[in-house]
Amino acid sequence: MSKCSVLIIEDEKNIQIFMGKVLKRHDYRVLYADTGSLGLEVICSQCPDIILLDLGLPDMNGDDLIREVRTWSSTPIIVISARTAEREKVIALDLGADDYITKPFGTSELLARIRASLRHSNRLRTDSTLYIRPYKHGGMILDFSKRLLRVNNEEIHLTPIEYKIVAYLAQNSGKVITYSAILSNVWGPYADGDNKILRVNMANIRRKIEDDPAQPKYIFTEVGVGYRMAEDEEE
Ligand code: CA
Repeated sequence: MSKCSVLIIEDEKNIQIFMGKVLKRHDYRVLYADTGSLGLEVICSQCPDIILLDLGLPDMNGDDLIREVRTWSSTPIIVISARTAEREKVIALDLGADDYITKPFGTSELLARIRASLRHSNRLRTDSTLYIRPYKHGGMILDFSKRLLRVNNEEIHLTPIEYKIVAYLAQNSGKVITYSAILSNVWGPYADGDNKILRVNMANIRRKIEDDPAQPKYIFTEVGVGYRMAEDEEE
């Protein structure tokens, strides 16, 4: 199998070098661009498997690049973002970025994000068993075909809405999903933009599945952005 290629679009040299070294060591082929326009060129000419994108580029806003790329490509994009920029992350995700990673970040976090996004895009392309093979993490097993959730061998009774939320997060496990994406997926395109109904449902879900709802093991809160379900252990 040929190496997976990662395009790093980032103008800060030290971050570019750090990520490049990590990725090469883990057998990725690394491509670089330090401007948005060069990034777009490389995406067209080299078709990378995944794109790491800094939003603050010298020649363009990263959001504009995401918007442009999404008109013709579904290549996963992971945004590299500043610590407190929740709103920026939400906008990027809703424009079609797949995930984000917050500066400063460590090697294992970077690799985990890349793995989750690649796995998800591969499945979307090739794997119709995505909704058939159960999700597993720790003591949790979610069997999509039977709509059955077990935690530590105990069957958990979810309402239909709670099930939809958990199933949607499990199908996207390892990736952050914005509040608005969950709302429109679960309640439909005319969903109220208010997150309150989602927070209430999530509190009930956590009471049912987590030992300690304040210290969740399965579904994590990404403050100001959305939720992330622990990565599926299969593969
Ligand atoms: Ca920058």
